[in-house]
Amino acid sequence: MNKEPVSRELFDEVMVPNYAPGNIIPVRGEGSRVWDQEGREFLDLQGGIAVTSLGHAHPGLLSALQEQSEKVWHLSNVMTNEPALRLAKTLCDHTFAERVFFANSGAEANEAAFKLARRYAWDNFGPEKHEIISFKNAFHGRTLFTVSVGGQQKYLEGFEPAPGGIHHADFNDLDSVKALISKEKTCAVVIEPIQGESGVMPADPEFLKGLRQLCDDNNALLIFDEVQTGVGRTGHLYAYEMYGVIPDILTSAKGLGGGFPVAAMLTTAKVGASLAVGTHGSTYGGNALACAVAQKVIDTVSQPEILKGVNERSEKLRRGMMAIGERYGVFSEVRGAGLLLGCVLTEQWQGRAKDFLTAGLEEGVMVLMAGANVVRLAPSLIIPETDIEEALQRFEAAVKKLAK
Ligand SMILES: *Cc1c(COP(=O)(O)O)cnc(C)c1O
Repeated sequence: MNKEPVSRELFDEVMVPNYAPGNIIPVRGEGSRVWDQEGREFLDLQGGIAVTSLGHAHPGLLSALQEQSEKVWHLSNVMTNEPALRLAKTLCDHTFAERVFFANSGAEANEAAFKLARRYAWDNFGPEKHEIISFKNAFHGRTLFTVSVGGQQKYLEGFEPAPGGIHHADFNDLDSVKALISKEKTCAVVIEPIQGESGVMPADPEFLKGLRQLCDDNNALLIFDEVQTGVGRTGHLYAYEMYGVIPDILTSAKGLGGGFPVAAMLTTAKVGASLAVGTHGSTYGGNALACAVAQKVIDTVSQPEILKGVNERSEKLRRGMMAIGERYGVFSEVRGAGLLLGCVLTEQWQGRAKDFLTAGLEEGVMVLMAGANVVRLAPSLIIPETDIEEALQRFEAAVKKLAK
């Protein structure tokens, strides 16, 4: 086995340059702490971008992985497997869903959702009804279809021609949707209940209720992309519960595997019927190892005391960040829900979110950005309260250095 020492410099020699990773290489994690190659310790408020929902090296996830790894890893969809069936049943029991399709990433779950929406309309109304309405600044993944449905033109640059039949409305502006939607052409409206990547921007409850009504009036499906907001992140198993608006299709990934790649598309029996035998598939989708780990994640996160804990941690973190924001004049607002928080930079700090990341790392705390104007936090849902306190102290030290 190759055990040659590696360093950050190697990245530029052997990797395609599509990422610009930080200078440290974490090698071990436990709970909400990680250690780098030099043994330096960091408090993790990144959570692998809302993925490590139960922190690092969670004992329950370790044993679920270990146990399944000794039985069977993979069978392909020529066979079904016990972990996939159990997980699908659990997801149906806990949500509006009656049918599940498994994939491996958020983009793939969304790809399945968009294909299903078109196919369902094609089956029930005909080929004219194929248009998808999404929102400016939305993020739905990086495949060509999902990046086209996403609302950031820069991610499409140089990759065109893009798939057609996609329109972008203004987030939280129902009139802009009314102007685009029609019974004849629209098959679906897709939205993140809280726009994650573009700045942790929550949808107004009235807006989502209005979308539901518009979709019903126009025989269009409502798709919630809960890749970032799902699996307890907002203090609810899925954010749609918080809004009291039920979608026809919901996609889940990121936190679902707690760090093991797995994704799911949830839907009703009626809509799901359109993905008939042979219409869609994925080799790894429903992989036994992935589903066994996700089962443990869902069984843990769906417990009422865990979800309640998310809201308590959220309050503590929100208050702490707001206090730092006020002391140093760096944040105008802390928005979001549960443990998906966006600290919005004040006028004079516009465009400098990256500096907060870098300064944080120097003081031993890992935070994220969401666009250039928002510092984003998405830690483990069970981060100990004492780790939150220490992370806040370290972050304050970082801000103090930046602000002087
Ligand atoms: C991260 C994200 C995706 C893409 O997920 P991948 O696993 O990177 O493909 C899609 N939608 C939302 C809302 C996301 O936050």
